[in-house]
Amino acid sequence: MASRRRFLTDSGLLVAAGLVACRAPAGPAIITISQRSVRQLLPGIPTSDGAGVKLTRVIGQPALRNLDPFLLLDRFHSDDPGAYIQGFPDHPHRGFETVTVMLAGKMRHRDSRGNQGIITGGGAQWMTAGRGIVHSEMPEQERGLMSGFQLWVNLPAKEKMCPQFYQDLPPEQLAEERLTPAGSLIRVIAGDANGLAGPVRERATAPILLTALLADERPFELDTPEGHTAFVFVGSGEVEVGPEHAATAVGSGTIALLGPGNRLRVRAKKPGCQLLLAAARPLGEPIVQRGPFVMNTDAEIQRAFADYRAGVLDKA
Ligand code: FE
Repeated sequence: MASRRRFLTDSGLLVAAGLVACRAPAGPAIITISQRSVRQLLPGIPTSDGAGVKLTRVIGQPALRNLDPFLLLDRFHSDDPGAYIQGFPDHPHRGFETVTVMLAGKMRHRDSRGNQGIITGGGAQWMTAGRGIVHSEMPEQERGLMSGFQLWVNLPAKEKMCPQFYQDLPPEQLAEERLTPAGSLIRVIAGDANGLAGPVRERATAPILLTALLADERPFELDTPEGHTAFVFVGSGEVEVGPEHAATAVGSGTIALLGPGNRLRVRAKKPGCQLLLAAARPLGEPIVQRGPFVMNTDAEIQRAFADYRAGVLDKA
């Protein structure tokens, strides 16, 4: 991966960039690398949702109501069917996108417009709820490990009432790259990760979303646009995040919120770490959230409840 540590200037010239700002008096602009540091660590908190699914709430907990443009991050991970079997029966969404990342297990989704599918281990689903959807997300298994994430990504005001849109992403549609001989790998769901193109493109918040498995202690670095909100969530193991000489240890079940910069560095402290890495452009708009509806004003929330009660949440 060391060969990917580079930036192209606008003239096409390759520049090996260091930590020093460079300004050429004339000629191509040079992009400066600045490593993001950890600005806050926060453990997820155990809770349950749906019909009693046990999960860890990371974004959306009292200490982190949201992380613009991210509205919620839940992690589910259990081999006890009692912790997941009840699933998430019919419930609505309006005004944002839900991303389900399955690491292990199977989940069936079915919606009020007749769409359905199964999200399998290693796959994902990017659902733009837009103006509204009523759907269920139920385990398609009676035993075994179910593990993954659900991330909610906000939509800008002008897209909150857009038509519903699904991207069902079986494992083979994710962009996968093996990083090291020991088996470290990344699987890219959205955006560009060091030149590896994820299948989800052209969303309003320009998200980059990937999972990583670090099988050895070699550092992994990810280019993240300046101005994007960025975080690393550690599913298992312990990593260090941040510049080599000022890195912060991040343990399992903890989110690291990152400060400004354009590159993210992470390294396993011991082999065998599972991570979720995300970056996206903040919207900077008012967020009014009531349960599964996330709009910009109270009036829009009232309208969402009224539409839901009238059975027209998902109607154009
Ligand atoms: Fe849902």
